[in-house]
Amino acid sequence: MRPRRTRTWFDATQSVLWSGLVFVVGCYQPTVVPPLASIPRPVAPPVVAAPAMPPQLPELTLPKIPLNPTPTGNPWAPKTKPRDWKYVVLHHTAAEEGSVESIHEIHLKNKDKSGNPWLGIGYHFVIGNGKGMGDGEIEPTFRWREQLQGAHAGVGEYNQQGIGIVLIGNFEKTAPTTAQLTAVKRLVGVMKQSYSIDNDHVVGHGDVKATECPGRKFPLNDVRISVAVQDEPSFPSLARGITDSPLTLNRLNRGPLQ
Ligand SMILES: [Zn+2]
Repeated sequence: MRPRRTRTWFDATQSVLWSGLVFVVGCYQPTVVPPLASIPRPVAPPVVAAPAMPPQLPELTLPKIPLNPTPTGNPWAPKTKPRDWKYVVLHHTAAEEGSVESIHEIHLKNKDKSGNPWLGIGYHFVIGNGKGMGDGEIEPTFRWREQLQGAHAGVGEYNQQGIGIVLIGNFEKTAPTTAQLTAVKRLVGVMKQSYSIDNDHVVGHGDVKATECPGRKFPLNDVRISVAVQDEPSFPSLARGITDSPLTLNRLNRGPLQ
């Protein structure tokens, strides 16, 4: 009987090596690479054959477009049918600051001759002076958007057919800002052109009612001449026409404008 062989150091080492090999083999995960044919390749867009060009292009007739078309834009054009405007009536608020909202709040408390409360702000446009609204900012009111008559002149005809424009400020004390003057000239010019308003129908409130509005420091004649000149290049005759108009004479007879 052979003596039982004792487990030697060599045996133990071999056993560890073999188990390690099994472990390594067991963890080995070969990367599966699919055959090339199974990888979808990007499909090139189909080549569309260009249509064959006609041998000769037909002669084109282009519409004639003027090189310098006259700008006739009205950025304030209402979405509803415009009223039959005949006048522009200019006002000041006689207050140092204000906005469409602040005037609206005040006018909501007013009542007409029949005792009915006003619908709100009586003007069609407000031009800010930087205190409550932007300096030179032009903001239309609901009366303009809905083409309603104004409540600003104190005279029926001018309320019904006059576009009421008010500038924030007290022009008995100080002149309008430069930005306000630029804005009012632009706005009145567009209104005059868009609604065919005569030169001498651009008036100050004081021209149609006994009031100091729009204030003696408001350069009404400058504005009127400026918007008249926007229409016609013949400045001197137009300027004379404005100064001779009954409305202007009415104002001039009441004292200097500035
Ligand atoms: Zn006024």
